[in-house]
Amino acid sequence: MGNDKGTIKRIAEERISILLDMAESFYRGKAPQGVDDALAKKYIGLAMQIRRHYKIKGKDKRFDTVCKKCHTLLIPGITCTVRILGREHAALYKCIQCGTEKRIIFHGKSMAAMQNSK
Ligand SMILES: [Zn+2]
Repeated sequence: MGNDKGTIKRIAEERISILLDMAESFYRGKAPQGVDDALAKKYIGLAMQIRRHYKIKGKDKRFDTVCKKCHTLLIPGITCTVRILGREHAALYKCIQCGTEKRIIFHGKSMAAMQNSK
């Protein structure tokens, strides 16, 4: 018998996605409770924990934009400032909360999308 690892992983991925959705909606002010930074960070922390535990890699791109230091989800214009590094096809995200900078590499079209999302 044994447990179905695929199913467990899928459920874990779903949970991660839900947690990140909730955190994102907090930051974007869509949550009925308004912006609750501590709660949003708790959700992100939990999502990261689940991800580590189940060794899920690269499934949700939003992990690329989580501040390594304070676990804030970096949303341009809301929780971080963005500087486009044209030559490097990258952007420098600066966390508004703790000032940590994170380099995000772009591939083609996502770069234009970034510049529009001010
Ligand atoms: Zn930060």
